[in-house]
Amino acid sequence: MPTSRFMLNGTLSASNRIARQINRNLIFNQIRAKQPISRAELARTSGLQRSTVSLIVEELLEDRWVVEGLTGEIPRGRKPTFLNVNGQRVVLALDIHPALATLAVTDLGGKVISVDSVELPENPKDVIGAILTAVSKMLRGHLNRTFEGIGINLPGRFDPHLEKSIFAPNVDWPIGQLKSRVERATGLPVVVDNVANACTLSEVWFGYSDRMNDLVVVNVSEGIGTGIFANGHLLRGDAGVAGEFGHIQLDPNGLRCGCGGQGCWETIASNRAGLRYYTEITKKPVSSFDALIQLAKADDVAARQALNMMCKALGRGMHMISLALAPGEIVVVGDITNAWDLAGPEIEAEMRRFPLVRPPSIRPARGGNTARLRSAVALIMNSKTL
Ligand SMILES: [Zn+2]
Repeated sequence: MPTSRFMLNGTLSASNRIARQINRNLIFNQIRAKQPISRAELARTSGLQRSTVSLIVEELLEDRWVVEGLTGEIPRGRKPTFLNVNGQRVVLALDIHPALATLAVTDLGGKVISVDSVELPENPKDVIGAILTAVSKMLRGHLNRTFEGIGINLPGRFDPHLEKSIFAPNVDWPIGQLKSRVERATGLPVVVDNVANACTLSEVWFGYSDRMNDLVVVNVSEGIGTGIFANGHLLRGDAGVAGEFGHIQLDPNGLRCGCGGQGCWETIASNRAGLRYYTEITKKPVSSFDALIQLAKADDVAARQALNMMCKALGRGMHMISLALAPGEIVVVGDITNAWDLAGPEIEAEMRRFPLVRPPSIRPARGGNTARLRSAVALIMNSKTL
């Protein structure tokens, strides 16, 4: 298991504090992945000293991130007490798409306990109200659990202080107000981030990536967003808007994009592009991206062709990302990961078709569609420990 490394921004400079945080995340993730587990086993699997493990475990117990469970049986000596992630403590994940919100109750280990979704109303004025109603229903349905907070993934960039969106070309409702409205309505801590950033933090926080210092998450949905973890930091850029590879022009003669540009990467490589390719080939629409995936899996020729066109476009963009940032790994998030055996090889072949200095590995995010929901846990729990 790699050492987990996690920093929200560059403001922490005390190296011992960072080291402690890294070790704490490492131990927590070992407990999450291998529970029930004893302290002795933790020392063996983490490579840390027993005394260090004991100190961190005491801290995690005190903070109620983990609980002690059954006592183990060994032939002689003191019986070990097993540790588990505290299943009572949960986070509400609010995953916002332009026209749909998915809500999930997720435990600290990233396990999704309950999930619901709400179609967002057409009238922009009604959207936040509909989301608040769904949030309140979800909280009422889980009164026996302790909610640590609400982690919100947004499709776009916004300024939390000015409560306005800075860049959200696919959203026409006042998304910038969402954080404060949810906070006021629930009284819970709320952390928001762009969905690609949230998924990037999640990969690192849960210790899934073995290329912790340099990885890029590409979120493929209605649009395309990327989260960049470079030199061990999330790269946010001026006003927090770094990572908009989705709006770099790859086709000068391409379609108009929601951002005002033309032929942006997302106009040729997003789920919307996949659906458009299918309609162009067959002259008939397909109901959803999921339906397109199912058709492709069932060997429908047109669906396969549409998916391949989308994958080629994704691969071209990843070639650009690889040369620009040299990530060790590119992690793909989104519905396309449900057909990874079809999509993955196409994307990678196109990325490698032109010279690369160091080709990164490409893989789908763990747990398919739950990756976006799980990232809410990383948003909330990280904000509590830094
Ligand atoms: Zn654009």
